[in-house]
Amino acid sequence: VWDDCLSVIKDNVTLQGFKTWFEPIKPVKLDNNVLTIQVPSQFFYEWLEEHYIHLLKKIIRKELGDEGRLEYSIIMEGNYSDSSPYTVKIPTSNRRAIKNPAVQVPVNVGSKQIKNPFVIPGLKKINVDSNLKPNYSFENLVEGDCNRLARSAGFAVAKNPGGTAFNPLLIYGSVGLGKTHLAQAIGIEIKNRFENKTVLYVESEKFIHQFIDAVKNNNVNDFSHFYQMIDVLIIDDVQFLAGKEKTQDMFFHIFNHLHQTGKQIVLTSDKAPVEMLGMEQRLLSRFKWGLSADLQTPSLETRIAILEKKMYADGIELPKDVVEYLAYSITTNIRELEGALISLIAHSSLNRKAVTLDLAKQMIDKFVKNTAREVSIDYIQKVVCDYFDLPIELLKSKTRKREVVQARQIAMFFAKKMTKSSLANIGMHCGGKDHATVLHACRTVNNLQETDKQFRKYLDDLEKKLSIQ
Ligand code: ADP
Ligand code: MG
Repeated sequence: VWDDCLSVIKDNVTLQGFKTWFEPIKPVKLDNNVLTIQVPSQFFYEWLEEHYIHLLKKIIRKELGDEGRLEYSIIMEGNYSDSSPYTVKIPTSNRRAIKNPAVQVPVNVGSKQIKNPFVIPGLKKINVDSNLKPNYSFENLVEGDCNRLARSAGFAVAKNPGGTAFNPLLIYGSVGLGKTHLAQAIGIEIKNRFENKTVLYVESEKFIHQFIDAVKNNNVNDFSHFYQMIDVLIIDDVQFLAGKEKTQDMFFHIFNHLHQTGKQIVLTSDKAPVEMLGMEQRLLSRFKWGLSADLQTPSLETRIAILEKKMYADGIELPKDVVEYLAYSITTNIRELEGALISLIAHSSLNRKAVTLDLAKQMIDKFVKNTAREVSIDYIQKVVCDYFDLPIELLKSKTRKREVVQARQIAMFFAKKMTKSSLANIGMHCGGKDHATVLHACRTVNNLQETDKQFRKYLDDLEKKLSIQ
């Protein structure tokens, strides 16, 4: 198509003009009726617009019909750019739109030709690349006690950005508990509900680097203007701003502007505000204007639900005991939990082996930092209860029913043997017994296993089930 266009153009412009302004253009793609051409610079684009727009319009209409459109992709060099050149969209059928084309400006755009990556002169409407990953939706964020408050505050913010008392919304919690996921979910939901709002997700490290570059390039004003145009600003891991005074000043300035104009701010941090050392007091006090909601470690049920959700999304099935084992073993970091699941599946598909509990046990150590891993009391209780077909609640209760008492004693025995828990702690987990009771249970089990063959077999079976590797 572009070649056809060129031949028409050639007939309508001077040779010099053709060489200078049309030969350097590269056709990039033709999508439906949209032809994208790549031009070497912003200046180039403006020149074409000014001098050749009528010709281009005519040609596009001829080649692509009335619905035809031309888009420019402007090449930019420089180190802001990840990959995407930004695109200027120009509907050829509407001349007025050309004066104010919507411009997609990824925040990370940079250039040699365009000195200033943050502001495109003369353009009113900007479309920022929000940096949102569709997978991090609310739908994919399993709800549990661990995140209920933060999640619902986030959802409230998404329904009414800038209009709730949760401004800023600060989400905090330790690594791998879903801060980034939730922050992104808020952005995604806002984008779904309010198409025209400019949402920007940015990691604080990136914010810091952009600011440093802006200082170097004398762009600080534009940097600040750019951020002040955002409707929903999501800054991930603000704790990295600690100790960076200049950046904090800039952020303070942006924060105030956004807050005063009713824009929404969402922040995440691995620490509660009170624990953020190296953060200016005035910033900290602003963080407290809104709501700070923390993410806790997920309960067993939530961990299982997360694994199931993930398996469902990936169309994978695993034996129930494997899923439970994963959920029991990895308790404090959802990223590790997912990592273990993924690598288990990868391993089994590479080796064409079904995922068995044994395989899971072998693999899991790689994901748990502490190599001398121990099973948890909870897991022991579960295995023992499964074995004797008792509900776990009974074992955790104070009941003195004979079968329960014996199972409970066995659980205590293994907890003593296989974990570093104190006797008191074990007792607390097993129906609120005191340490003397636990000690007594361990002695009883030891005695029984020497005298009772059947009992001995129970213990051997259970020990096998509980052993790691
Ligand atoms: P953080 O930013 O707190 O370190 P992330 O948001 O990166 O944690 O979460 C780590 C991983 O765990 C991500 O893949 C995320 O999708 C997943 N995850 C966290 N919380 C949940 C949840 N409640 N439901 C489903 N997946 C979750
Ligand atoms: Mg994160």
